[in-house]
Amino acid sequence: MKIRGQDDWGSGHYGASRVDRRHNGVDVVNSVGDSIASLTYGTVSKVGWCYSWKEHPDRKHLRYVQVTLDGNDFRYFYCKPTAAQGDKIKPGDELGIAHDLNAVFVDERKRPMTQHFHFEIIGTDGEFVNPADMIPAIKEALL
Ligand SMILES: [Zn+2]
Repeated sequence: MKIRGQDDWGSGHYGASRVDRRHNGVDVVNSVGDSIASLTYGTVSKVGWCYSWKEHPDRKHLRYVQVTLDGNDFRYFYCKPTAAQGDKIKPGDELGIAHDLNAVFVDERKRPMTQHFHFEIIGTDGEFVNPADMIPAIKEALL
């Protein structure tokens, strides 16, 4: 597993700066069409859309999958679902397929964004959790 470093669009590390906020997850480098595997046990509690259709019509096809375990939500963005709501999941089970980010995030002044899926955790208190604190594979990837 490799975490997205700095590129022209930002860094994939937790807490990295964005235009108007902090990056609330980690970006795991992949290739377009890759299978995205769950990092945890849990139940698929939601399959959703990453962006508001009104604000970002060019991004409206981008999907996410949410897996819930013990009140924690594990969310995989830029993941076209192959799992369905209600599915019981164990680590390694496929949740979806990697969307092509370079077909979406286009800016002629910038080099292409590193292809990835975005992974974030919302803890039982409703706040974002640093994924490295809960997922050993991410902690190891950052060493
Ligand atoms: Zn991200």
